[in-house]
Amino acid sequence: MDWIESTRRLLEAQRDMGIREFWVRSEAWDPWKVLRREVEGCRKCQLWRSRRKVVFGAGDTEAGIMFVGEAPGEEEDLRGEPFVGAAGELLTRMIRAIRMERREVYIANVLKCRPPGNRDPLPEEIEACKPYLFRQIELVKPKVICALGRIAGGTLLGTSLPLSRLRGKVHFALGTKVVVTFHPAALLRNPGWKRQAWEDMKLLRREYDGLELRR
Ligand code: SF4
Repeated sequence: MDWIESTRRLLEAQRDMGIREFWVRSEAWDPWKVLRREVEGCRKCQLWRSRRKVVFGAGDTEAGIMFVGEAPGEEEDLRGEPFVGAAGELLTRMIRAIRMERREVYIANVLKCRPPGNRDPLPEEIEACKPYLFRQIELVKPKVICALGRIAGGTLLGTSLPLSRLRGKVHFALGTKVVVTFHPAALLRNPGWKRQAWEDMKLLRREYDGLELRR
């Protein structure tokens, strides 16, 4: 007997006993809680073995702009939050540069667990983990996504093109506009790229403002 049939029988038995009202705890149906629980227990790739904390994502779950990074680093793995180290501080400054606060956007990574030694994510790890990111995008429904780095851009756009071919234009994926820029950690290593990153952030803000005006 499947669960629908057993539920039907239970409800009929309770009706026969005179019970007319049922209360359902809404949190059991909260898609964010369901997703977080699933990710926190995930063992779909080898990274669960070495993680200290799952880094689910943070911010406004109804944000108009969503930032997508690559994977947690050491600090994020310890604290369970995305972008909390030096790269996180730079991301906060990039967000402020487009006249927003961190709490007004949603931030997540392609991978929810840290690759050992901060190595690049393996293709099979990305394949295993990306459905969680896509579900987060479905739930947030951002107007524009800003992909931070080649891995995030490539995962969202389904391409292996280099970052230089993805930057500077507006893409469309998962029902949403996507702007690709440098990962903040790369900007810390290469400060000379900040001017181009600023152009990307202005493009992101323009797209967001344009969509806001058309609403
Ligand atoms: S990285 Fe993603 S797929 Fe791999 S164990 Fe962590 S949550 Fe699961």
